[in-house]
Amino acid sequence: MEIRPVGATAVSAGRGRIVFSSSTNPSRVTEARDAKPQERLFSSMVSGVSGLAAALFATLFPADCRLCGSPLLNISRLPVCELCLADMRPISEAICAICGERMKGFAASYDECGETRCGLCRRLEPPFVRASAYGSYEGGLRELIHLLKYEGVRPAAGVLGRMLAAAVTDLRPSFDENGMLVVPVPLHRSKSRQRGFNQAEEIARKALKQIPSDCHLELAADVLQRQRETQSQIGLSRHQRRMNMRGAFAVKRPELVQGREVLVVDDVFTTGTTVSECARVLRRAGASRVFVATVARTLKVEAKFTAVPAENESEAAMVAAG
Ligand SMILES: [Zn+2]
Ligand SMILES: [Zn+2]
Repeated sequence: MEIRPVGATAVSAGRGRIVFSSSTNPSRVTEARDAKPQERLFSSMVSGVSGLAAALFATLFPADCRLCGSPLLNISRLPVCELCLADMRPISEAICAICGERMKGFAASYDECGETRCGLCRRLEPPFVRASAYGSYEGGLRELIHLLKYEGVRPAAGVLGRMLAAAVTDLRPSFDENGMLVVPVPLHRSKSRQRGFNQAEEIARKALKQIPSDCHLELAADVLQRQRETQSQIGLSRHQRRMNMRGAFAVKRPELVQGREVLVVDDVFTTGTTVSECARVLRRAGASRVFVATVARTLKVEAKFTAVPAENESEAAMVAAG
């Protein structure tokens, strides 16, 4: 279905259901949120022909933000308001230079390049060079990912793709010039059939459109295969999680991977076990170096709130992750 109201300013007329998103002007949205619904409708109506079209549309196709519930004022295929989107900020605190884990309050050490390393990366070198994530896996960002994954709100992939592109851009100085194979973490066939799409691949496709072509990123969605379903990682120790993942992935097309740099992409980096296992099999298949980029990352709870022995600090923070 394609609906294109005459005079509307913010039309996203793609296929599928069209809903309203809020104004692109945050200050106007703030005012609008403080106002009563009728006043909101009225103020949007008096703002000219486009406002009138929007108001008419709101009456015909009323929709609320799926995250905060406030009425959506503009037409968009993504049922999330600008304020909720603006709240999804990039991680801005001190993180481990290798895995991206939160460092604040934790004992850090520095490698020979003067970069900070968390305890885990210090003890055991990960199979990837570096992992970058856009935001913390909580609040609105977590809900937005769930909208895509569990409720099939496909337009969410566009916003998540822009975030993934930012995470990739952070890694870019470390890439070599021969281009990079982009490999989304695959779903098992049964889950893929059930969901109808692989969110990692969906987000990767959107991200690649945002990244300049001189970065030479090449999507290779069929390189990795998930051979078996894995049980939930919740409550497992690090060792158990690794065992749980063993043999879960196989490189289907090793000839593509041989001697290449590979960027593994996924929606969320929780414990890192999944992307680490992907990186491990890719390296074994001949990949020269593996990087990881995700939209979000589970961050360890700040040290001042934890009272676990130093030995177990990483484990404790990871228990909640999947
Ligand atoms: Zn909202
Ligand atoms: Zn680390």
